[in-house]
Parts: sequence; structure tokens; C-alpha cells
Amino acid sequence: MVGAGLGGLSATLFLAQQGIEVLGISKHRGTSPHPKATGQTHRTMELLRRAGVADEVLAGSAGLDGGLVIKVAESLRGRVFHTIMHEDDEWDTALSPERSGMASQDHVEPVLLRRARELGAEVLFETELVALAQDADGVTARVRSAGREYTVRADYVIGADGHRGVVREWVEIGRQGPGELSHHIGVVFDADMSSHIVPDKLTLYYLRNQAFTGTLVATNTERRNVLTVEYDPARESAADYPPRRCVELLRIATDVPDLEPEILEITRWEMAAWLSDRFRAGRVFLVGDAAKVTPPTGGLGGNTAIGDGFDIAWKLAAVLKGEAGEGLLDSYEAERRPYGKLVVDGSFANYVQRFAPQLAGPDVPDEVDHLHLTLGYRCRSNAVLIDDADPAPMENPADPSGRPGFRAPHVVVEHQGTSKSTLDLFGTWTLLTLNPVWAAADVTSVEIPTLQDPTGDLAKRYGIGQQGASLIRPDGVIAWRTTETVSDPANRIADVVATLLAH
Ligand SMILES: Cc1cc2nc3c(=O)[nH]c(=O)nc-3n(C[C@H](O)[C@H](O)[C@H](O)COP(=O)(O)OP(=O)(O)OC[C@H]3O[C@@H](n4cnc5c(N)ncnc54)[C@H](O)[C@@H]3O)c2cc1C
Repeated sequence: MVGAGLGGLSATLFLAQQGIEVLGISKHRGTSPHPKATGQTHRTMELLRRAGVADEVLAGSAGLDGGLVIKVAESLRGRVFHTIMHEDDEWDTALSPERSGMASQDHVEPVLLRRARELGAEVLFETELVALAQDADGVTARVRSAGREYTVRADYVIGADGHRGVVREWVEIGRQGPGELSHHIGVVFDADMSSHIVPDKLTLYYLRNQAFTGTLVATNTERRNVLTVEYDPARESAADYPPRRCVELLRIATDVPDLEPEILEITRWEMAAWLSDRFRAGRVFLVGDAAKVTPPTGGLGGNTAIGDGFDIAWKLAAVLKGEAGEGLLDSYEAERRPYGKLVVDGSFANYVQRFAPQLAGPDVPDEVDHLHLTLGYRCRSNAVLIDDADPAPMENPADPSGRPGFRAPHVVVEHQGTSKSTLDLFGTWTLLTLNPVWAAADVTSVEIPTLQDPTGDLAKRYGIGQQGASLIRPDGVIAWRTTETVSDPANRIADVVATLLAH
């Protein structure tokens, strides 16, 4: 594993959870000290729940767990041009057993790292990849640590080395997209903002005024916030933003002329939009920013990195444990690259709306509904058996169709005398059914829980009625569905699973 950011650490953790031996390296001294990606979608929290770290991650949202407010405005008290998420927006608990998180990256990465190590993964910092070559049987990596170089041989390599990563270049995968969009100065500061922002909610302001264009966002550390300011590298550099000037910009942003913030860090970064041509080259896979770089307008860079990590981890683990054929690995790019494209396109559309309205035009992709994208995406690959001709890439998760390719919906069922979410039944291949014929099938490696459906939601939201059955993959995606009963259920299920696992 090259990289120990959100993508690399989650892939490492999910592989270790499956009992796979994994070595992670990172050239940095440790996890990110910068708050960067703040916010976890419901889907991310559902994945972290599987890893047993959802509560620990959510603890980072303390004080911000009332939700999210997003506005495009002149300043915190100035004219509001557009409200994207409102103080009153509430989460519909019928959609997920997990609430969304508001933790920042500097809180989440150490949680993932600790859990990955606890599960047996080895993660080495200040260890840099310097060369990579693959052959038919494995991958050979040359790494440098403390001035010494050595060779590591692995069955597979995951490039989770971020948007300036070298793995993508070593395996000669190109990338396309609008590319670099804008240059920013990031100012991490401490100040009491309690009278300016909505208490108990994560507040994100996109700011456009005569002095600058940028953002102001609270973090999960009390009093800590981040201001970003767009600059033109042809005319200025980071050196033109000393603390004194940053304090002035903060006073403009907050409308508090005597604000006395404590400036902790001033950095620069580039906002960009790229999609890699492929997410896989033989035994090498790309995840997170190494696979695609999305503008942060949408808050999906870190979330998608975790989603990528989870996806490649369960598929690689199934192949390495001999449960699946190599063909299952084809489904990683087939499913995650179109998803990455939707994320990049939708975030780019948000970027134009929130930061750069002058770029609006026919070449700008359509905006993408956040909820549809995060909970209603349809996977299409050899690892799902789709039997309809609907080409739509997403559906409304509040009104799920239960068709193969979509996330298996959250429904409360009765199982072993307790009420639980269907999502807590998944982790291995699972058949959901209310039909005793399907329920009696005995198939190796497929769990068939005995369920009651007091609300009728299971039959309805999964579209299986009383007769049918729905086969759920280890990642909680519907792989196959039938509305009918059969005379030889075990053979039917075994055939379906063998097809899906490329055996
Ligand atoms: C200012 C800012 C705000 C953001 N806000 C959000 C947000 O609100 N929500 C959101 O979801 N996302 C946000 N993002 C994006 C998010 O931070 C990234 O998408 C996410 O961190 C990507 O994770 P990653 O693991 O792919 O890469 P990274 O976090 O970049 O990690 C790369 C890893 O690779 C390692 N590495 C690189 N090269 C080598 C090498 N040669 N050898 C060994 N190791 C190497 C590094 O040490 C590091 O561990 C933001 C980003 C920025 C910059």
C-alpha cells in the first residue's frame, strides 16, 4: 500500500480486517496534521461502522453533530447569494442507521491508523516509494527509508499516494479533465467564532467579496477554523500572504474589525479536477486522489477515497483467499471509475456555481444530487447481474427500487429476537428472503438469516415480495434478485455466486 491518507489507510484497514497481510508506506512523517477533508457521508459512516470505528470517528463531530450549513455569501454577516444547506435541514433516519459525520481529516486518519494496526497491518512512515515494476506473478517495489533503499515484493500494489502520486506514472496511466482550476492560500487559525456561526452545526461559507474569493470552514477542534483565499500565481506567491495580511482577510471574512485570531499555519494548495484513464494496470490499482482529483466543492474527495479503499479491499481479499477468480478485480475499475467521473463532474459544476460563475457555459457538466450520488449510485460490472435496460446511473435512495447494482437499502427487520438494520446483516455474501424455500438453501459462504418483516418494508424496498430473494455482496450492494421461488434454491444460488465471483 503506497500512501497512508484516507484512501490508503482505509484500504489497509479493510484488508487487515479480512485477514490479509498488508504493508503500508507513507513518505510523510505521520498522518495529516491539517484538518483538510471535513465531513463523512452516510455511506462513509456505514463503511466505518463495518470496521468498528464509526463511533470513534463520530466523536470527532462533537459539538458539530447538528448537521451542516453551507452558504455562498459576501462574508459571515454580509449578503447571502445562495443557501445550499440550511440550518433547518434534517436527516431522514429512514435512509441509514448512521448519521453523517463532521469530523476533520486530522481526527479521522489516526483512528483508521490505530484500527488498521490493531488488526495486524504494518504501516511505516517516512518510507518513500522510489521505483515500481510488475511481472506476471507480482509487483516489486523499491522503497527508501532513513537513507537506505530496499526491495519489497507483493502480490498486488495499491497506489493511494494522492494527486501528485508516482504510482500512476510508474504504471503509465494518463489522466484527463479540466486540470488545475485555481490556487489557494489555506490559513488554519484559532478564534472564538461562536457568535458568527450556527452553534452545533458544521458551517461552510463560500465567500465572494471585493477583497477575495475563498471559503471559511469550522473544524472539529474547538475554536479552530480554516480560511482559504484564491490567488493568481502569475502575480503573487504564498510569501505575499504573511500573518498580518491573513488577519486582515479574516476580519473581512467575519465582519469583525477587531478579531484577534491566532494563526497556526499558512499553506498553499491547488484545486484541480482530473480523472485517470484507468484505475488498474495489471496488479496495480489506484484509489483516492491518485485515481481522480475532485474539487473539494461537494466534500467528496476524502469520502470517495474511503469508498475506493473499501471496494478494492473486499475484492482483493476475496481473490487472495481463493474465494473469487481474478476476474472479480475487473469490477473495481468498472464500478469506481464511472463513480469517480460523477464525483469530479458534479464537484466541478459546484465549483463553477460557488467560486467561478464566469465559467458557466455548455461545457460545464450538470450538477449532481448529493444524496443520489452518495446513496443511490448503481454499480455496473461483472460483479452484479443487472436484468433491466434502465441506463440511469443513480436513483433516489429515499425510494429505492431494490434492483441489482444499487446499495441495499436500510430496513429495520426482526432477526434472532431483536430489531436491527439490514445493513448490520452484511459483511459476507447474504441472501435476504421471507420465503422458507429460499431460506432453507444450504450454500457454502452465503449467509441466509431468518428474518421477520413486521413493517413490510423488506418485501417492498427490496422488491422481493414474500416469494423472492435478494443476494447482497459483502459491500452491501445488491448483486442479484428474483421475485420467484424455485425448486432447487441451493443450486441456483451457487450458480449465481460462482458467476459473480468469476469462478
Ligand atoms: C484544503 C482541502 C480541503 C478539502 N476538503 C475536503 C472535504 O471537505 N471533504 C472531502 O471529502 N475531501 C476534501 N478534500 C480532499 C481530501 O483531503 C482528499 O481527497 C483526500 O485526502 C485524499 O486522500 P488520499 O488518501 O487519496 O490522498 P492523500 O491524503 O493525499 O494521501 C497521500 C498519501 O500518499 C503518500 N505518498 C505520496 N507519495 C508517496 C511516495 N512516493 N511514497 C510513499 N508515500 C507516498 C503520502 O505520504 C500520503 O500518506 C480537501 C482537500 C484539501 C487540500
